[in-house]
Amino acid sequence: MRRVLVAGNWKMHKTPSEARVWFAELKRLLPPLDSEAVVLPAYPMLPAAKEVLSGTEVAYGAQDVSPHREGAYTGEVSARMLSDLGCRYAIVGHSERRRYHGETDALVAEKAKRLLEEGIVPILCVGEPLEVREKGEAEAYTLRQLLGSLDGVEPSAPERLVIAYEPVWAIGTGKNATPEDAEAMHRAIRKALSERYGEAFAQRVRILYGGSVNPKNFAHLLSMPNVDGGLVGGASLELESFLALLRIAG
Ligand code: PEP
Repeated sequence: MRRVLVAGNWKMHKTPSEARVWFAELKRLLPPLDSEAVVLPAYPMLPAAKEVLSGTEVAYGAQDVSPHREGAYTGEVSARMLSDLGCRYAIVGHSERRRYHGETDALVAEKAKRLLEEGIVPILCVGEPLEVREKGEAEAYTLRQLLGSLDGVEPSAPERLVIAYEPVWAIGTGKNATPEDAEAMHRAIRKALSERYGEAFAQRVRILYGGSVNPKNFAHLLSMPNVDGGLVGGASLELESFLALLRIAG
């Protein structure tokens, strides 16, 4: 019912020339997929993604978007620009943006709304820092963040929204949540989505796990009933390891 999604978040890595070569190699080596693959490079690589990946099974998208539609907002990139470049997805609310750029739940919700207006699926990230988990408050914190970031966000269909649970302490650290801990949080997220959008809708929203996913731990994570894929940073940069994740996803 929910198609597995493997999304590679490149963060601020690679150049447009390097990305072009990587995309072409991915296209050449791509196995037949039942799952869905998405690459999320930095903005300057999106034209190369459009050129090389259009018409393939691999979708691409952005790591962020402006909360504004258009205007005098120096340095910002609008959802309309992303749509014109063929982006199908964009991340909003990644913990690095929340932490280093002070993004609030309200801002994340505005960004998600701009994406939906342009037919782009937000991959909305939530997750607790270590001190919150240690206090035993991970679930309450994450659900509060989730509902705050969905304030006024009304996707027209469950396929138009993806949630990524990314415990902050697991991102880029090599520590990942146990599959059982991830499953418990994903179940709680789905329950909150069901209270927010209705049960039938919530059952069809994909919830990705993110935080040091790699080809060694992905199969176990994916075996959990509420884990519908991965948002992958480090392990999505090397083509071989991204391909390994896709083969695991099937
Ligand atoms: C991420 O970028 O969202 C992420 C989870 O990174 P990593 O896989 O490197 O932990």
